[in-house]
Parts: sequence; structure tokens; C-alpha cells
Amino acid sequence: MDGQPAQVVVVGGGHAAAAFVNSVRRAGYAGRLVLVSNEPALPYYRPPLSKKYLAEGQSVEQILIRPPAWYDEQQVQVRLRTQVAAIDRAAHAVALADGGRIAYDRLVLATGAQPRRLPAAIGGDLDGVLQMRHLADADALAPQLQPGRRLVVIGGGYIGLEVAAVAAARGLQVALVEAAPRILQRVAAAATADHFRALHRAHGVELIEGVAPARLLADGHRVRAVLLADGRELAADAVLVGIGVQPNVELAAAAGLAVDDGICVDPCARTSDPHILAAGDCTSFEYRGQRVRLESVQNANDQAAVAAHTVAGDPKPYAALPWFWSDQYDTKLQIAGLHLGCDDALLRPGKTERSRSVWYWRGDELLAVDAINDPAAFATAKALLASGRSVPKAAVLDPAASFKDWLA
Ligand SMILES: Cc1cc2nc3c(=O)[nH]c(=O)nc-3n(C[C@H](O)[C@H](O)[C@H](O)COP(=O)(O)OP(=O)(O)OC[C@H]3O[C@@H](n4cnc5c(N)ncnc54)[C@H](O)[C@@H]3O)c2cc1C
Repeated sequence: MDGQPAQVVVVGGGHAAAAFVNSVRRAGYAGRLVLVSNEPALPYYRPPLSKKYLAEGQSVEQILIRPPAWYDEQQVQVRLRTQVAAIDRAAHAVALADGGRIAYDRLVLATGAQPRRLPAAIGGDLDGVLQMRHLADADALAPQLQPGRRLVVIGGGYIGLEVAAVAAARGLQVALVEAAPRILQRVAAAATADHFRALHRAHGVELIEGVAPARLLADGHRVRAVLLADGRELAADAVLVGIGVQPNVELAAAAGLAVDDGICVDPCARTSDPHILAAGDCTSFEYRGQRVRLESVQNANDQAAVAAHTVAGDPKPYAALPWFWSDQYDTKLQIAGLHLGCDDALLRPGKTERSRSVWYWRGDELLAVDAINDPAAFATAKALLASGRSVPKAAVLDPAASFKDWLA
């Protein structure tokens, strides 16, 4: 097609990269498309790594985003196990760690994020200290999931809690340590945290909040315990560190692109260089007057679709509604919206003892909802937020008030 870039290169092999190559073909881009990923596998769904893949031993094929044949059909040249080492903006080319170069007319950075690590000085590099981001991480943890073994999870965010749930259900002795005053401190209200704390304790997880790990203790080079700041020692056959991620912005920063927590992008997924776009966990952008960096499948997919339309010459600014989910034991949490900047959170009981929802407000503006085993609350919240509507707080607190009436 006239005016379209001749060659588009995507750096990354995760959700955003896979969504971009699909969306850009659907948007009518017919030029050369190259996907460069440092992973050994084709793009796969990451959420199952701390859920079904770990719990049920799914195969790699079951979690691939697209089957291998799809990339050939769509004429996407995939280069796996290939690290992009630098961007040469002047020459419009990327330099590979193996010495090769690939020219681009448009470059899409979908480099994702990497887990924060505990410093080696306190034992973060010991054998048996694991993280959870890539397939290889889940494969390293899987052999540890034997009944009776002791797992210490450091970090009470969603990934730490999900791994703790899988391990506890498998019969391990699980302790989870959160340095902040409570679990889910950064991402959810106290009411949501209360629910998940009780759930984990009911499944036998020793959940410790407000105490930092001081040091990991070893036998030789293998971790044997976590020493807490209050002097307690938690015996461990393995330690899972889930203390958040940092965006992979090194390539962008070294190339002089604007970076502020993530790679800065405009509503059409353009970076500060008009020939370079970015999508997914590696980006930061303006959302309702605040700069945010989202770590979710929804954002990776939707922002990649935005980038695809920009590349195909049909820009459509990002207007998606953030949403997220987490599975722990038989509990499903679904989150619509972003609670950032909220000044009030109200708990609405659900129809059953196991269901409830937490509604986040700034003044009278509804910002987000955490729906726990309550798909109707999630669907209602999504519809309300998507249409910019709210409901009176009194209605949320009234169990007799029906979602149907709010949507009418
Ligand atoms: C265990 C786990 C569970 C999750 N559960 C949920 C969930 O329930 N719901 C939800 O919404 N989200 C969940 N997420 C988050 C979600 O998976 C991420 O938001 C999503 O993967 C982001 O996609 P991405 O493409 O931006 O980044 P990634 O999926 O991280 O992909 C980035 C890719 O780029 C590659 N790469 C980086 N640098 C280079 C380079 N220089 N050269 C070549 N390749 C490079 C990386 O190896 C990787 O393949 C979970 C994440 C994890 C790890």
C-alpha cells in the first residue's frame, strides 16, 4: 500500500508484540514484518505461569498466543533467541547482540518488564531463589511443588499471592512475607486485601505483614531460610521473590528517547521519535491527568492495537478501559478501572458469602471496582466506567439496589 512503511521491526516476544503483529495485519499493513524476541519460545500467555500452567502442568503449546503456523500465514518473520542490543536512530536500524543488524522504517518497542531482584548482598543470588516472569521461571519452580516442602514467598502482590495459592493447594508449607503494612498495598484497598489475607490463612499460608526480609541464609550456595528483620527465621526449600517489576527501558533510554518510569508514549503509541512506537508494560502514558504504567494483558493488547493503527496510517488514540484479573484458589478477582487517586473505597456485599465488590471513588466520581467472585459487579462496573457514568454511593451500599437499575 502507498505510504506504508516498507519494513516494521518489533522488539519483544510477549503479549504486546503478538498483539501488534496480529493487529497491524488486520489494519491492512502488507509490508515486511519482523518480530525479534530474546525468548526461546513463541509469544505465550504469561498469566497462566502463576496459575494453571503451574497448578495443572499445562504444556507450552497450550499457552502459546498463536500457533507456529500462524506466523507463516501472516508473513511475520520471527527471530527467537535474539537480543536487540541497541537502536541506531540515525541509520534506522537495530543492532543485535550477535553482531547482526536489522533495518526498520518503523520500530515498535514491546520489551515488557523484568522482576525486581533482592540484592546479592542479602542472598538474592542464592540457588533456590526464584522469580516468576518467563516460562523458564515457572519451569524452575515446578519441581519444588512437592507436598511437605517449604516455600517462602517474598512479596504480597498478585504474583506472590497466586504462587502461594498454587503451592498451598499442592500441600506445601507456605509462608508469605510482605514488608509493607499489608498485602496488595500498592494495588488495592484494605477491604480487598482483608479478603485475600483471610483466604490464604484459611488455606494454611503463614502470612506475615509489615516485616521485611533482612537476609537469606544458605547451606553452601543454596537457600535454607529467610531471616526477617524482627529476628524470626523461616525455613525454606525455595524462595519465590515477587516484589514487583521494572520496565525494560534501557534500549530506549540509551537511544535518547523520552523515558519517565516507562518509555513515554502519546495517545497513538508514538515515542519521542516519530519512527519509533512502544506498547505494553514498557510504556508510560497520560491517563486521566496522571502518568501511569500499566502491567496488564488488557493494556498490552489494546496499546499494541493502537500502535498497529498508527503504523498502518489510520491512527486511533488509546481510549481503552483498564481491567485486570487474578485467580487464587477458587476465587476470581476481576478489576475494572484504575483506583489511582481514590479518596474513598466502599465494600458492597455480594449475593453469596464468597462474593463482594469494592468500589473506589474520587469525590463522586467512580474510578474502579474490585469484584471478588462477582462477575455481575465487574460487568456493571465496566459498563459504567466505559460510558463515564457513576452511581450514588448510597446505592452501592444498599444490597437491595440492583445493578440492572444502574445500567438502565
Ligand atoms: C506470572 C504472571 C502472571 C500475570 N497475571 C496476569 C493476569 O492475571 N492478568 C493480567 O492482566 N496480567 C497479568 N500479568 C501481566 C501481563 O502478563 C503483562 O502485563 C504482559 O505480559 C505485558 O506484555 P508485554 O508484551 O508488554 O511484556 P512481556 O510479556 O514481558 O514481553 C516482553 C518481551 O520482550 C522480550 N525482550 C525484552 N527486551 C528484549 C530485547 N532487548 N531483545 C529482544 N527481546 C526482548 C522479553 O523477553 C519478552 O519476551 C502477569 C504477569 C506474570 C509474569
